[in-house]
Amino acid sequence: MTAILKLLPGKDKTIKARHPWIFAGAVGELIGRAKPGDTVDVVAANGRPLARAAFSPESQIRARVWTFDVNETIDHAFFKRRIGAAIARREALPELRGQQGLRLIHAESDGLPGITADRYGDTVVVALTSAGAEKWRDAIVDTIYKTTSCARIYERSDASARSREGLAPVVGWRVGEASTDDLVITENGVKMSVDIIAGHKTGFYLDQRDNRRRVGELSANKRVLNCFCYTGGFSLQALEGGASEVISVDSSGPALATAQRNLALNPQLDATCAIWHEADVFADLRARHSANEKFDLIVLDPPKFAPSAAHADRAARAYKDINLQAMKCLNPGGMLMTYSCSGGITVAHFQQIITDAATDAARTVRILHRVQGAADHPVDVAFPEGEYLKGLLLQVD
Ligand code: SAH
Repeated sequence: MTAILKLLPGKDKTIKARHPWIFAGAVGELIGRAKPGDTVDVVAANGRPLARAAFSPESQIRARVWTFDVNETIDHAFFKRRIGAAIARREALPELRGQQGLRLIHAESDGLPGITADRYGDTVVVALTSAGAEKWRDAIVDTIYKTTSCARIYERSDASARSREGLAPVVGWRVGEASTDDLVITENGVKMSVDIIAGHKTGFYLDQRDNRRRVGELSANKRVLNCFCYTGGFSLQALEGGASEVISVDSSGPALATAQRNLALNPQLDATCAIWHEADVFADLRARHSANEKFDLIVLDPPKFAPSAAHADRAARAYKDINLQAMKCLNPGGMLMTYSCSGGITVAHFQQIITDAATDAARTVRILHRVQGAADHPVDVAFPEGEYLKGLLLQVD
């Protein structure tokens, strides 16, 4: 018998709006027995069926909705349908067809809570971060293998989110096996190595693909500063776009070492134009301003300062600080490509932070483009948390 998760009176609004998370505070009672990851029938306080969801007793997100169709069965065939639909969404977009690095499954926003899958050539990296995803591992891996005809699948289920679900980290090959030393993808004409074993996330920030291309398009004959450069994604695009000089800053020595290896993979790029600098960006920007250094284009792609709304205030101060310092280091008419990948900072809040920075910098700042993650990172409008990456291309006079 499927257990029933009965909500408290008045707590069915978000689920009626097709938001997939049921918080512990909305739950009245669990009728029957359910283990972590088991499918439960979610009903309103008056007993009206609302959804089928994966139960997660340890998490504040007590259940994640698989389907709002109360008659849909959650089984292997369900995952075939949902994963097939996610992959078809990518195939329908010309800009995504043929990409060697591609997000195939974007969790909640693809109707698959807790499930992420990224393809790098013929290797797929899957990350499972919820109790429900954990339970269906075999069906998920089998479906990805059969639907993509990839050669191998590596599991990178080591995100910190798993601990909130009471799950230990799990990593390893699920299908096939290969040395990962030479895993390289081409993105916008530039070769990038992908460290699926030890790199961030599944090894690479695929969400910035379009934005890196845009930076390349803006870089001809420009002096570029790429802050938080990681493995050099934006830096190499700037070089490809003809930048006269690209200074890249990151606090991680290993990331910078990979960035330099990536540069060497691209003999078409002029390595003499690239400078790599291991430093804290907050201090580095201040030092550059004090030294009166000026740039034509600055990229700010920091890590997530606010994982949730609870961290928003502190994060806002950090975002304002780096944006203010960067504005001070721009030549008049210079461009600032600035991002926040914090789920806890909304698009409107980010723009306000930029406005405050512009006021303090006493510069006129214009928004030329509002940008987001690439189309293989869709945003379900019912799930605003999915809109984590927001960016602005600014011109600073
Ligand atoms: N722009 C990159 C992704 C950035 S990830 C890309 O396109 O691939 C964030 C990076 O910020 C990481 O490489 C991390 O090492 C670095 N980082 C975090 N805090 C930092 C700090 N205070 N100063 C410098 N780098 C920092």
